[in-house]
Amino acid sequence: MAKVAKTPKAGETRNHNGSVAQRVDQTLPISVFENVMKQFDMAASKMKLDPTILEFIKVPRKSVIVKLPVQMDDGSFRIFTGYRVQHSIARGPAKGGIRYHPGVTLDEVQALASWMTWKCAVVNIPFGGGKGGVICDPFKMSKSELERLTRRYVADMMDMFGPELDVPAPDVGTGPQVMAWFMDTYSMRYGHNMPDVVTGKPIQLGGSLGRNEATGRGVMITTREAAKWIGMKLNGATASVQGFGNVGSISAKLLFDLGVKILYVSDASGAIHNPKGFNPAELIKWVEKHKGVTGFPGSSKINPADVLTAQVDILVPAALENQITAENAGKLRCKLVAEGANGPTTPEADAILEKKGIVVIPDILCNAGGVTVSYFEWVQNRMGYYWSEAEVNQRLEEKMVASFDDVLGVAKANKVSLRVAAFMLAIGRVVDVVHLRGIYG
Ligand code: NAD
Repeated sequence: MAKVAKTPKAGETRNHNGSVAQRVDQTLPISVFENVMKQFDMAASKMKLDPTILEFIKVPRKSVIVKLPVQMDDGSFRIFTGYRVQHSIARGPAKGGIRYHPGVTLDEVQALASWMTWKCAVVNIPFGGGKGGVICDPFKMSKSELERLTRRYVADMMDMFGPELDVPAPDVGTGPQVMAWFMDTYSMRYGHNMPDVVTGKPIQLGGSLGRNEATGRGVMITTREAAKWIGMKLNGATASVQGFGNVGSISAKLLFDLGVKILYVSDASGAIHNPKGFNPAELIKWVEKHKGVTGFPGSSKINPADVLTAQVDILVPAALENQITAENAGKLRCKLVAEGANGPTTPEADAILEKKGIVVIPDILCNAGGVTVSYFEWVQNRMGYYWSEAEVNQRLEEKMVASFDDVLGVAKANKVSLRVAAFMLAIGRVVDVVHLRGIYG
């Protein structure tokens, strides 16, 4: 097995060969890619597997960096940096979102691509893992600038993508519109519609009913199953939600429908509290109009850090990586963490939470509802027949419950946390196909 690099100093990150690389976003000093490596190593150490195969499946197979010249509305050109990483194609085409955010780094994209491999394996869908990103601030760009950036990103990496090769989806800062431009640019090359090259498209272009809510729905289902397991009644339970975008807002809404009181919410604009609880549907309308949760009637403004450490039953981190760290994990007062975001908890924080008896539903299980319905979308595109929303939701329900049970079964059999169990399950499934296919080398 490869040696794991030492923990980097603040402001530093490491490439997967252990060499030091400078992070672009200094607000995220912890290498997220190193976090995935640690999670992988922890699970792999519990399995008796060939170290060569482990080394082969652990690191990304392909990482591409492109410099994208884009004409801005004032006529000037700006050069953007874009990434696409394919971590694995062992179980099927690479699958994973595209992020538009000023803090995107290769380290982060590699980490997110790796988590996608393990996530698709946990829910047992025939995809590998991939991820893309562009360093940009989509909130400071016009719609036409975003369109030109997206088309140039696709054009520069055209050969990476394809329904059988690598199928992107939305992530932070991208959504159905970006997927529509993506699909159109890709289709232009072939002269006919290719909706199956991306998922998360607008419904009119072959998007799946239920895709927009799927990640939040998966968070709700896994939270409900975890609550059953630990004997927590959801009707009357309390929750705190960090991030109120696609994942956070829909998780909050669906948990609220089960009787959970949402007491604390934060987003990039700040954090709010209401001891009586928020109605998430009303808060969603407010955010659509005011572009942030702050100022919502009946709420008081609080310190964003307090959203994580609030005295609640359930904490849903649904923003970005590295939010629950060695520094604040000891202060958490919830019983259950439902990881809506990818990588919100560092491995060091995980150890602290485990000691405190806080159950963590790991991201590669908890937020896998999104990629599961992306898989349904790809299937519907390929057969040209579309399911009702109720059918999509029913299939998602079955997949998420079965996956939760699979992970819990491994956790109980091996006396490990749900995160270690999810990685063990996923690694086992990837190793299995590598054995069957053999290594062409
Ligand atoms: P989004 O862009 O819709 O929402 C992100 C939210 O986080 C926004 O409300 C933003 O204001 C908030 N935010 C940003 N910085 C913050 C901070 N410092 N503190 C508090 N809030 C902050 O993105 P999303 O699609 O909801 O994704 C959120 C997370 O879920 C990401 O980690 C993403 O990778 C993961 N995820 C998304 C999907 C999906 O289908 N959208 C699927 C799986 C995982």
